[in-house]
Amino acid sequence: MAPLPKRKISNARKGKRILDKKRKTTLPQLVTCKECGKKKKPHMQCKYCGK
Ligand SMILES: [Zn+2]
Repeated sequence: MAPLPKRKISNARKGKRILDKKRKTTLPQLVTCKECGKKKKPHMQCKYCGK
């Protein structure tokens, strides 16, 4: 017998979980630093040149 969840997950919750997963997969997007041309996280200080 397979273990069953006590409660059915509502559509809203399911959507939230999917969104969370999507956000996790789309998060590591990098931009090119204008100063040194290295890849860096957007809205973050560049770790190579500090700008
Ligand atoms: Zn830089």
